[in-house]
Amino acid sequence: MKTFQKPPGTQDVLPNTVETWQFVEKTARDLCRRFHYREIRTPMFEATELYQRGVGETTDIVEKEMYTFEDRGHRSMTLRPEGTAGVVRSYVENKLYGDPDIAKLYYIGPMFRYERAQAGRYRQFHQFGVEAIGSDDPALDAEVIALGYQFYKEVGLNGITVEINSVGTPEIRASFRTKLLNFLEPMRSSLCEDCQSRMDRNPLRVLDCKVDQPKFEGAPSILDSLDEECTDHFTQVRQSLDAMDIPYRINPRLVRGLDYYTHTAFEYKAQGIGSIDTVGGGGRYNGLVAEVGGDDRPGVGLGIGLERTLLLLENQQIQPNMDTALDVYVITLGENADRESPVIVQKLRNAGLAVDRDYQGRKMKALFKAADRTGARFTAILGDDELERGEIALKNMATGEQQHVPLSELATVVFSFITEHKKGNNQP
Ligand code: ATP
Ligand code: MG
Repeated sequence: MKTFQKPPGTQDVLPNTVETWQFVEKTARDLCRRFHYREIRTPMFEATELYQRGVGETTDIVEKEMYTFEDRGHRSMTLRPEGTAGVVRSYVENKLYGDPDIAKLYYIGPMFRYERAQAGRYRQFHQFGVEAIGSDDPALDAEVIALGYQFYKEVGLNGITVEINSVGTPEIRASFRTKLLNFLEPMRSSLCEDCQSRMDRNPLRVLDCKVDQPKFEGAPSILDSLDEECTDHFTQVRQSLDAMDIPYRINPRLVRGLDYYTHTAFEYKAQGIGSIDTVGGGGRYNGLVAEVGGDDRPGVGLGIGLERTLLLLENQQIQPNMDTALDVYVITLGENADRESPVIVQKLRNAGLAVDRDYQGRKMKALFKAADRTGARFTAILGDDELERGEIALKNMATGEQQHVPLSELATVVFSFITEHKKGNNQP
């Protein structure tokens, strides 16, 4: 028989791991609620041209990582490789700019890039991202940076550092490009193949190269090329971060892969995922809304890789405390009692408890073992005798204590036991 395997670079998230995912997602959602970002859900695929324009023709993503296909109507479609272009497309299409307030949006979902799969790098991966569109205020850049920093803190990670830079405006980058090329030209032949080809197409991105990084020690800094307005914006972002006590390092070689950034660019760094050291990043993109056909609106956003977040959690042996245990495992013994089982289970569940029972016709010993395996806090045991007396036995699995409870009051009694029990557990 032919068997199937998941496609390379994809992952099955199985129970046990999924709880960590849920915890991370819940943390992100709660954070966004407090920062007043609202969720937006956009399609998993868009017109290819959106990414060509919105991400940039000379980026790794567009040049070699997109899952592009022709649909049956002969349109070129692409599975979304990142979240910003789709959100901005939606912002324009749905005229969100007509709102008197700025748009503060977030998303959590899968992205697709055809990459060489390794730990921390997949073909289907997940991002949590935010986009704030409609304001030029440097305090908003700082808010977005702070949100990401707080996210890592609240999932419990240690050792996340923030790096920031200003990439100026397209005009400033054009003049900086000349200075940079003057510096790079003499070493052209010693640079990696990627760098050599980037020198011709998008020299700024040479600075992003991991391989040749040490050679760029003496490279000109884009910060020296900024005009007054850009310098002022950057200073204000830094002042805002300082005021909020967000630690950061200025990295003048931080340019990021995407073409549409203006002013602020930032990354979150961490050690522990092989050679990968970036776990999230973002920046200001004042040119993007116009690039995808909208009015000229400034924006700033970030994207955080969730697989990398989970890998770090695992490395740092952080296990989120998710309540997955059963409250009650119901065991019935005897024909009449068995018939009552669905009713008892239903009553407890409808009362808000997590409850399960046997569906494999197992005998007494196996049933008690099954109850143990579930980690249920209580086992409720109903035999024909108890049923006749209108009672049920309730066993506290932690203490071994057992007592009889009137069947009619089961849900109420168990519920108050469980609440007591949970209260006890929460005590320091
Ligand atoms: P890298 O330099 O690692 O390729 P990138 O610059 O392509 O990253 P971005 O486009 O900025 O990454 O995406 C933001 C975040 O999304 C990254 O910091 C990372 O955490 C995550 N990410 C990007 N590509 C992948 C991938 N193929 N697999 C897993 N996570 C990814
Ligand atoms: Mg990449």
